[in-house]
Amino acid sequence: MFRQVTIVGLGLIGGSLGLAIKRRRLARCVVGYSRRTATVRRAKARGAIDCGTRDLAEAVRGSDVVVIATPVGLIVPIAQVVARVAAPGTIITDVGSVKGAIVRQLDGARANFVGAHPLAGSERNGIAAAEPRLFNGSTCILTPTRCTNAAALRRVRLLWQSLGTCVVMMPPARHDALVAAMSHLPHALAFGLMHGTPAAARRLASRSFLDATRVAASDPRLWEEILLMNRRGVLAALRLLEVQLRGFQRLLARHDARGLHRWIHTARRRRLTYHAGG
Ligand code: NAP
Repeated sequence: MFRQVTIVGLGLIGGSLGLAIKRRRLARCVVGYSRRTATVRRAKARGAIDCGTRDLAEAVRGSDVVVIATPVGLIVPIAQVVARVAAPGTIITDVGSVKGAIVRQLDGARANFVGAHPLAGSERNGIAAAEPRLFNGSTCILTPTRCTNAAALRRVRLLWQSLGTCVVMMPPARHDALVAAMSHLPHALAFGLMHGTPAAARRLASRSFLDATRVAASDPRLWEEILLMNRRGVLAALRLLEVQLRGFQRLLARHDARGLHRWIHTARRRRLTYHAGG
């Protein structure tokens, strides 16, 4: 499918992408670039890349596609460097969890940029956590705009479909609003639960507490940047949740058993629409 793919940033997502591309033989060669030599070496040892370097210009030379899988705050500056050093026509794409701010800065001038966000991952990070089946059966959101090159979009779409994801497309702003509600706010709530739960209660940690706070173990650097870059979306999602929490408070204060039952019943019905364990 591709002659050569370069992955910039060889952590959980970049490493998993390399493993999946190689396992599915989607490229003749996968080149890796990361900040630390040790990461490049580990990615090669794990079979996520065929070769690696800490020279970005060398890493992108001869590649049809460059996928940027670094923390979100680095995606724009790295893409700008890649655009300068890569051959004309090279497709540049990313995996960042925020799209508006990234696409806005890379659109237009870089007609070959395609914004992407695979909805797969975990609270773990680094190449050690990478795994080839991470994307299987998940959704990948692409955020093309009027400036996006149609051929580049087709190829990026094909890449993610070939990796076993269901590709959906939407404008970057819509992505940010939906993902704020579905992922960014739940992460913030998990952080909040870890702060708001007294130590004596934390020591008793039941399964439900562990389920609700799993993602609180996520990397602070990654999440600080995501929450700030999508602060508008997160604030809007928070306002909607506040309405729910105030309603819940009222139900408790009024001792409204029927109202509380309905509130929980509706939530349960919605949750049960997912596959078991999903
Ligand atoms: P990660 O495991 O921490 O990996 C990030 C990698 O970026 C690290 O391996 C690091 O490499 C590399 N890096 C840091 N600074 C760099 C630089 N200046 N130049 C080149 N490489 C650099 O994080 P991740 O979870 O894979 O997240 C990466 C991206 O995927 C983020 O944009 C995130 O929003 C997105 N994403 C994450 C998830 C998730 O669940 N985690 C899901 C979907 C999308 P070194 O080891 O060499 O320092």
